[in-house]
Amino acid sequence: MDPAGRWQNLPSGPSLKHLTDPSYGVPREQQKPALQELTRAHVESFDYAVREGLSHAVQGYQLCTGEEMSKENCIVDNIKVCSNDTGSGKFKCICITMRVPRNPTIGDKFASRHGQKGILSRLWPVEDMPFTESGMVPDILFNPHGFPSRMTIGMLIESMAGKSAALHGLCHDATPFTFSEENSALEYFGELLKAAGYNFYGTERLYSGISGIELEADIFIGVVYYQRLRHMVSDKFQVRTTGARDKVTNQPIGGRNVQGGIRFGEMERDALLAHGTSFLLHDRLFNCSDRSVAHVCVKCGSLLSPLLEKPPPSWSATRNRKYNCALCDRSDTIDTVSVPYVFRYFVAELAAMNIKVKLDVI
Ligand SMILES: [Zn+2]
Repeated sequence: MDPAGRWQNLPSGPSLKHLTDPSYGVPREQQKPALQELTRAHVESFDYAVREGLSHAVQGYQLCTGEEMSKENCIVDNIKVCSNDTGSGKFKCICITMRVPRNPTIGDKFASRHGQKGILSRLWPVEDMPFTESGMVPDILFNPHGFPSRMTIGMLIESMAGKSAALHGLCHDATPFTFSEENSALEYFGELLKAAGYNFYGTERLYSGISGIELEADIFIGVVYYQRLRHMVSDKFQVRTTGARDKVTNQPIGGRNVQGGIRFGEMERDALLAHGTSFLLHDRLFNCSDRSVAHVCVKCGSLLSPLLEKPPPSWSATRNRKYNCALCDRSDTIDTVSVPYVFRYFVAELAAMNIKVKLDVI
């Protein structure tokens, strides 16, 4: 196929000429008085409205993020002062868009337009990144294992299309179903790349940024549209040492904005079991969770019958009160055991259903 022949049929790129023209958006001379009259009422109270709106927006932002003492800087992106449809009535509401600038950090989420989302896992200094023969350095290195199973061929084609468009100064038409088996996109963009002196398949020779040594394999490199997704670590990270606990189970509560814990579930348990790290497992599931010391009657095995004896009449003797088994009516059979607090709750619930739980304490 002769790519030169195809180019002639391509539509010419969209022109920015009329947008950059100095007369664009400027009202014509005869429109000016009418426009001034229309906006006069707004201009007078505009300052006040914006000032009020801004203070509300700041409060609203703090309310939404739940971070009253948030130290994040933000920029007022745009302010829309709204009234009625014709713009002649009083102000009804002010829409203020706040923009919070955040540099990409490890853990932030990005995606191409093909559902190829991913987490930034390492930020390399640019001098350590591999470079091409012309000295170009990629912005993103992508693990090729993400392609066979997800079959996002479109991203590879976009990469080649973007590269060829950049090389030839073209705007490609992205209408679907324009290519076929006989006339494939790979062939078309491959020819374009070849015509520009690049590899047909979009690969290039790369050199290690650290050692400068030529990489053994040629690397597929091109231009792909990338976007940032709104899931950022700074909104999601969670830490806890000790903190609030659930009233019923005495286990740590969940939730980031209440300093809750992160669930250590079955699968995590399985992982620790598989590693044989029993002390760590015990620590997570017991010591750091709902460890409690319960009194149990060794004789009858009941967790519920040991009751703290009534305080003596004189308050000075309040200490050293004994536990007494309500069933056996003796206190020398009482022992203490460490059990999860939720187990005691479980025993109490079973008792409510007339089921007795008997512990064999050795
Ligand atoms: Zn007892």
